[in-house]
Amino acid sequence: MRVQNDQGIMIDLTGMNITMASGKGGTGKTTVAVNFAWLLASAGQRVQYLDCDVEEPNGHIFLKPSITESAPSKVMVPVVDQEKCTSCGECGLKCQFHAIVNLPGDTLIFPGLCHSCGLCSSVCPTGAITEGDREIGIIGKGSGTKRIDFIHGVLNVGEAMAVPLIKKVKNGRKDPYVHIIDAPPGTSCPVVATLKGSDAVIMVTEPTPFGLHDLKIAIDVARLLNIPTGVVINRDQGGYQPLSDYLEAAGIPILAVIPEDADIARHYSQGGIILESLPHYIDVYETLAANLEKLLDTHSVHAGRMRS
Ligand code: SF4
Ligand code: SF4
Repeated sequence: MRVQNDQGIMIDLTGMNITMASGKGGTGKTTVAVNFAWLLASAGQRVQYLDCDVEEPNGHIFLKPSITESAPSKVMVPVVDQEKCTSCGECGLKCQFHAIVNLPGDTLIFPGLCHSCGLCSSVCPTGAITEGDREIGIIGKGSGTKRIDFIHGVLNVGEAMAVPLIKKVKNGRKDPYVHIIDAPPGTSCPVVATLKGSDAVIMVTEPTPFGLHDLKIAIDVARLLNIPTGVVINRDQGGYQPLSDYLEAAGIPILAVIPEDADIARHYSQGGIILESLPHYIDVYETLAANLEKLLDTHSVHAGRMRS
């Protein structure tokens, strides 16, 4: 299916992985993600929304999915049989995450540090280590407004292992859908795990010194991963020259500019889809779609996937 803007530009994002990211929290990344998903779904595309912001998922607040499937997500953790353990120290020596401490007569596992790599059980000479598991969060699946297929991960409070949960959310991708992926804020491992495999990343930024500082770092990460990147400037108040200068020098296109608007803030705070309540913003999101297509075409990502 297609989205058509005033200039008659068609876009078909079927099969694409479009990730919404931001260098810092609070830029409006999720607002842009849910409204873009809504626009595509309104145009008849099959859209899947994957909320990988697992520490604070809030796409469901706006898309209001009926969660029909909810399952705990578990990771492997080693279990030591102290009867078989000779305290040789091999496992602690080899664990690069310092998740095992060998004491005389005792081998301790620190599950919160374990990355479930399985190395310790393979190096144990006595077979003292077996595989157990622990729950790190839940995966919820369902269908939201405009029949947007929905999946999110909700990390347990205090849990550090976000990456395995993010991978499970991404493993839930279906075809033929366009995948709108909501990344965590920042530039740490969970962001990298979310960005991997993206056909394009839309960085949502605010036109402030803090926004620009964190945007630069996030764009560097996307570049390292070789992902075509564009920017949505949110809460614009008439331009911010250092941001414009940076984007021009870096060759990063501005995909859309969303003005500062108390009406948007009000609808957001009520958990609403902006484009439903304020349809004059549909033009802005159609411009985003058209500019995204140009970005994809520039990087030759889109051409092979276009339908006639
Ligand atoms: S599974 Fe890997 S990370 Fe976990 S304790 Fe064993 S060696 Fe360390
Ligand atoms: S490698 Fe096996 S035997 Fe050696 S300390 Fe670890 S659990 Fe014990």
